[in-house]
Amino acid sequence: MPGRTLIPILGDQLSFGLSSLADADPATSVLLMAEVEDEATYVRHHRRKLAYILSAMRHHADALRERGWTVEYVKLDEPDNSGSFTGEIARAIARHSVDCIVVTEAGEWRVQAMLEAWETLFGVPVEIRTDTRFIASHADFEGWADGRKDLVMEFFYREQRRKTGLLMNGKKPEGGKWNYDKENRKPVAADLFMPQQPLFPPDGTTRDVIDLVTTRFPELIGSLDEWDLAVTHEDAMRAQDFFLQTSLVSFGDYQDAMVTGQPRMWHAHLSPYINSGLLDPLELCRAVEAEYRAGHVALNGAEGFIRQIIGWREYMRGVYWLAGPDYKDRNFFGNTRQLPRFYWTNETDMNCLHQALGQTWATAYAHHIQRLMVTGNFAMLIGADPHAVHLWYMEVYLDAYEWVTLPNTLGMSQFGDGGLVGTKPYAASGAYINRMSDYCEACRYDPTKRVGEDACPFNALYWDFLDRNRDKLGNNPRLGMQYRTWDRFGDDTKDETRAQAAGFLARLDAEPAGYEGPHDGRPDLDGVAGG
Ligand SMILES: Cc1cc2nc3c(=O)[nH]c(=O)nc-3n(C[C@H](O)[C@H](O)[C@H](O)COP(=O)(O)OP(=O)(O)OC[C@H]3O[C@@H](n4cnc5c(N)ncnc54)[C@H](O)[C@@H]3O)c2cc1C
Ligand code: SF4
Repeated sequence: MPGRTLIPILGDQLSFGLSSLADADPATSVLLMAEVEDEATYVRHHRRKLAYILSAMRHHADALRERGWTVEYVKLDEPDNSGSFTGEIARAIARHSVDCIVVTEAGEWRVQAMLEAWETLFGVPVEIRTDTRFIASHADFEGWADGRKDLVMEFFYREQRRKTGLLMNGKKPEGGKWNYDKENRKPVAADLFMPQQPLFPPDGTTRDVIDLVTTRFPELIGSLDEWDLAVTHEDAMRAQDFFLQTSLVSFGDYQDAMVTGQPRMWHAHLSPYINSGLLDPLELCRAVEAEYRAGHVALNGAEGFIRQIIGWREYMRGVYWLAGPDYKDRNFFGNTRQLPRFYWTNETDMNCLHQALGQTWATAYAHHIQRLMVTGNFAMLIGADPHAVHLWYMEVYLDAYEWVTLPNTLGMSQFGDGGLVGTKPYAASGAYINRMSDYCEACRYDPTKRVGEDACPFNALYWDFLDRNRDKLGNNPRLGMQYRTWDRFGDDTKDETRAQAAGFLARLDAEPAGYEGPHDGRPDLDGVAGG
């Protein structure tokens, strides 16, 4: 009897069009899906993130079976579960006569190394296929990057536009410009009508994994209340349709704004579904373009959204693989401070952080500017260890996978790579947060003050960050204006700013840092949306 083709499907490969399935014969193939301890614990996932992945995996296995595939599914709490992908491959090989293994490449270095070891370990041919859910393969990105001094995202993005034909008018960009970002920075009033996101109540499968996560991982934190996530292809598509019909129209205009009690506003909230494979990014972009061509949304909104996906998302993946497995160890500023404990407990009187962190613990979601300009900005200004920052982001967000989280955190938000991803650090004072949010109105600190008991901590920290890193940043042409402003401050002003920052950091260092396992109760979600 001929042997079987074993096709392992990883937790972020929940797509029917996966390359490993492209020419597979359902009659002779066995698909293997496994919930393994190694993956459930390699970072301390937010409970909601873990429950989402397990539930989406279980639903995807059912959907594959309905399409005629033989799927072997190993649940986390099965007594014989070996706890690792490799262990589950070994067990599958013992159950079947396996001729070969066909698998789609992994999303991250750690798992890819595991797949690459299987052939030698098991003595079975292993074919590792390109992940065709991305527009640029690793070779495409390397080819684009080859010989370039700077890997400027904008130029990569233009290539992607040409390649896909998205928003193109022949060889020219639609509307004559490639990028309409300047039109996308409007602050927003809290009383503007905001879309009410669709809710997907938990079914039996989701309730089972919620119980499993709660009992098996008591050390994890994050709220599982008010479950509203899609876990099937159909519901993810409903979320996509909702975005296209309701939110996309204002996405561009208010993309950078932050409003108390409105965690999502006009953002898509689709990244968990795209990253796990329930939604196809290119199809989504084509649907966005269709909305523009039908006259339903303005060009700045459609272009802004498509840029996030075929530009930033693909670019981040390209950088991750190009930079190599050591990228995670980069630390341009040599920062060593641990994150303050309040990143886990949310006990802080800085309202912007209280809102962004609280929302994160309540929903496992924060939008880009909250991640970049509030939690990320603060971590960089205090000199936090960029790898610790990266791990925190890996823990807390529903859409976190190393290939996308690492370049966003260590690269974009912490400037830990010294400028591979961004041309300058995303450092900002309280003035930026005050301009783009309503957080400062309810804060005990004053965003206009630099020194004094009620001065916004971001202000002195911002100048102190520039001052103490002058040897590394002083020649950056994009920071010239900021350094000229600092230089115009008198000596007294400089000294009092440094002293204010030093006082704040000393108080921070006197508090416990990092996360040391379970603490009583949930993070402080007082006054936080979803809390
Ligand atoms: C410090 C930091 C950490 C981040 N970590 C992650 C992460 O772990 N996973 C993740 O998917 N995104 C991450 N991002 C990017 C971005 O914040 C999220 O993709 C976005 O907030 C997801 O919410 P949304 O679907 O509502 O996005 P929208 O604001 O509606 O954007 C639309 C889509 O564009 C894509 N996108 C936008 N910006 C980026 C980007 N910089 N990198 C990759 N994709 C992008 C996402 O697929 C997103 O769904 C991070 C950004 C920062 C600054
Ligand atoms: S005043 Fe400062 S600390 Fe308070 S919300 Fe505004 S930026 Fe944040």
